[in-house]
Amino acid sequence: MDIVLEYCDYYLLDKVYAYALPKGGYVDTLIHQSPLFNTIAQFDLGKAIKTVPIIDHITSTNNTLVSNAINFNATSINSANLPSYLLNKVINYQNKADIYGLKPNLLPAGDFFSSSFLPRSSLFRESLSLLVITTLFGWLLYFSVAYLSYVYVFDHKIFNHPRYLKNQMSMEIYRATTAIPVMVALTNPFFLLELNGYSRLYMDVNDCNGGWKAVLFQIPKFILFTDCLIYLIHRWLHWPGVYKRLHKPHHKWIVCTPFASHAFHPVDGWAQSLPYHIYPFLFPLHKVLYLGLFTFVNFWTVMIHDGNYMSNDPVVNGTACHTVHHLYFNYNYGQFTTLWDRIGRSYRRPDDSFFVKENKAEDTKRMWRKQVDQMEEIRNELEGKVDDRVYIDQ
Ligand SMILES: [Zn+2]
Ligand SMILES: [Zn+2]
Repeated sequence: MDIVLEYCDYYLLDKVYAYALPKGGYVDTLIHQSPLFNTIAQFDLGKAIKTVPIIDHITSTNNTLVSNAINFNATSINSANLPSYLLNKVINYQNKADIYGLKPNLLPAGDFFSSSFLPRSSLFRESLSLLVITTLFGWLLYFSVAYLSYVYVFDHKIFNHPRYLKNQMSMEIYRATTAIPVMVALTNPFFLLELNGYSRLYMDVNDCNGGWKAVLFQIPKFILFTDCLIYLIHRWLHWPGVYKRLHKPHHKWIVCTPFASHAFHPVDGWAQSLPYHIYPFLFPLHKVLYLGLFTFVNFWTVMIHDGNYMSNDPVVNGTACHTVHHLYFNYNYGQFTTLWDRIGRSYRRPDDSFFVKENKAEDTKRMWRKQVDQMEEIRNELEGKVDDRVYIDQ
């Protein structure tokens, strides 16, 4: 995220913060005069950590906190010095060369680098900037990919499926558009940890043993790791209590359009994205590759909801497999492969009828009727007899 943030800061946000919140301006003076300020500053862990190399310039309150942490003697842990002990641990775990915003990295500093009283490295500024940037990027990616898929790939016959909902596409778009900013806000702590040097993300290819080979190897490793965790999280989301509270909104869509791809309860969408954000804290990952993989998973999510059954590959969890999940709920929880569904005995092979391109109208209707009968039985078990969905054929 530091790559994206540095470009945004250099070309736009440094200027925006400089004009909106300048050094010595009204807000700056007001905040520094506030009695709350020193109290808050004391608990601003990021600020305390970042000021370690320039300890002469920090306030006396922070000075004590940080000095205690640095000079901590590990042989004397007691309840009084426990906070200092923990802070010391956190500081030692941090890769200080990777802290974002203390100095320009990929681009020059620019005229407005230090014009705002909120420096690039401020946790508040980082959170706010990331919230706006990632939400806009999320919306852009969602609308552009889903729209292209809707025009060029999506099978529009789905509109006549008896379990397509009244106004379904607008409901999907509303659900996704409102969920994305909340998902981003929930993901922000991971981005902040990355920006402050706690992840294993790296930029120089030679920083990881194996160079380019290691970078290539990270692709299957990332897919396999996240596929496994998403499978487990998705199965957990189908536990009856959790399903009702979190996952049911995504299963409102019995048949999907590409706009269903991000139409989740925000906590559900965030939970299923956790493996993507946990990975770089456990394993080395190239920063540019991470951005590529982040974009790829969004593409993939749209693709498995587009109703176009191009592949019946036994290994890949493609569109047909995910359509089976939306139709019959308790099968095909995987994201990229069928591996974990096979191990967990939840794999259901998509019907061959999915792949017949030129079905006669009456054959299609017969196929849909059969799907509805099977679906109703499973849905009754999972959700109870009352179905609050309003279908087009009602
Ligand atoms: Zn599900
Ligand atoms: Zn889905």
